[in-house]
Amino acid sequence: NIHTKEDVIKAIEQYDVKFIRLQFSDIQGIVKDVEIPVTQIEKALNEGISFDGSSIEGFVRIDESDMVLKPDVSTFAILPWNQEKGVVARMICDVHLPNGEPFEGDPRYVLKKMLREAKEMGYEFNVGPELEFFMFKKENGEATTKPHDFGRYFEFAPADLAEDIRRDIVLTLSDLNFDIEASHHEVAFGQHEIDFKYSDALTTADNVMTFKYVTRTVAKLHGLHATFMPKPIYGENGSGMHVNLSLFGNDGNAFYNPNGDMEISDVARWFIGGVLRHIRGITAVTNPIVNSYKRLVPGYEAPVYISWSGANRTSLIRIPAARGNSTRLELRNPDPSCNPYIAFAAILGAGLEGIREKIDPGEKVESNIFELSDQERARLNIDTLPSMINETASHLENDELLRDVLGPHVHNNILRIAKAEWEDYRIQVHDWEVNRYLNSI
Ligand code: ADP
Ligand code: GLU
Ligand code: MG
Ligand code: MG
Repeated sequence: NIHTKEDVIKAIEQYDVKFIRLQFSDIQGIVKDVEIPVTQIEKALNEGISFDGSSIEGFVRIDESDMVLKPDVSTFAILPWNQEKGVVARMICDVHLPNGEPFEGDPRYVLKKMLREAKEMGYEFNVGPELEFFMFKKENGEATTKPHDFGRYFEFAPADLAEDIRRDIVLTLSDLNFDIEASHHEVAFGQHEIDFKYSDALTTADNVMTFKYVTRTVAKLHGLHATFMPKPIYGENGSGMHVNLSLFGNDGNAFYNPNGDMEISDVARWFIGGVLRHIRGITAVTNPIVNSYKRLVPGYEAPVYISWSGANRTSLIRIPAARGNSTRLELRNPDPSCNPYIAFAAILGAGLEGIREKIDPGEKVESNIFELSDQERARLNIDTLPSMINETASHLENDELLRDVLGPHVHNNILRIAKAEWEDYRIQVHDWEVNRYLNSI
């Protein structure tokens, strides 16, 4: 286990590391990295490594583009592949301004700020994500949307090919200190899920970033294309990233109360109340792209209505059956196209407001919401999630709490990107339109 600069130096000698990849995340959750030869390690650890922030999405500042990467030594890990030219390690970094201040546009900083706020209220925030993804065949080097473990190409893909690759992903993640809990095929052809153990939200967000490039890399080594696109195929299940959430206080899991209704605490209820109050704005962060909203439609195990429940999987927020330390909320709308740091910060910010203001989440809904009529839903006060990024963006724009939680820099940049995304999409002419109108009109 690595906790200090000295530990890093020792590990570098022990494993004969030749290169270090310094990683961080842009505002959209894309991994950025710069590789340094091991000769630069002292400088990286002591002063940090400079880079031009104006070329990173969501980082642009008018007057300051020189930024500094400061490695978080606890994230040191040896990358398990490409070792022919020497062993490669990575560290995840915080982004600072030249004057040493943390950069308010760094997603990691946004999450850390909220985690401090939780700490001041006596809580540690834990997150366990469930990442779903597709693996598709490649043709002539290009990704397709043909699932590799089904279809016309079946004869080239033995039934256990998927299993082998998944196992490879699991082994690689384990090498990178992941505690894997389960791995299984998902509902759609070519779709998979690998679950790893929950952790504090910062570690989990770092892990989500790592999970995605490990999965893509291992799939690529097998000649396949892995994608976290939320809804790659019309008419099939999409890929979600459900997040399991809990707060731990001094006396253990603060969501657990053996004497409470459903054995959950008031704190859990209020947290739900806060998340439900802000869910429309949160969704702009947890479901940030046009394609995210193609997943949030009835019939595919993805949430559409704003409600909470016990074990019922048609709800936006579900309380899985486990109690004691495993007592948790499962929020089901997030998808893996989100930036996990910013998403966890937004969810936590809303949940903490719920606790501060003791927000009542309202009645839970135990019926299959998709089978209710519009009238029944209206009677139960069940609203619908916004159906496109332009709608969630305008909710985010008007959400004062989320502006504070994200900070104006990130809030503004997310809105700018969401509006540009929507505008570009809005003016396209899609195949659907051509097929529908070309001959008939
Ligand atoms: P599902 O019930 O949707 O199938 P899974 O079993 O696939 O859920 O995933 C459960 C996730 O919840 C795992 O990542 C697990 O580590 C996580 N988890 C378990 N206990 C907690 C907790 N107290 N706080 C947060 N996450 C937790
Ligand atoms: N793939 C579904 C979704 O889009 C979830 C399936 C499940 O419950 O695991 O959220
Ligand atoms: Mg799943
Ligand atoms: Mg789940």
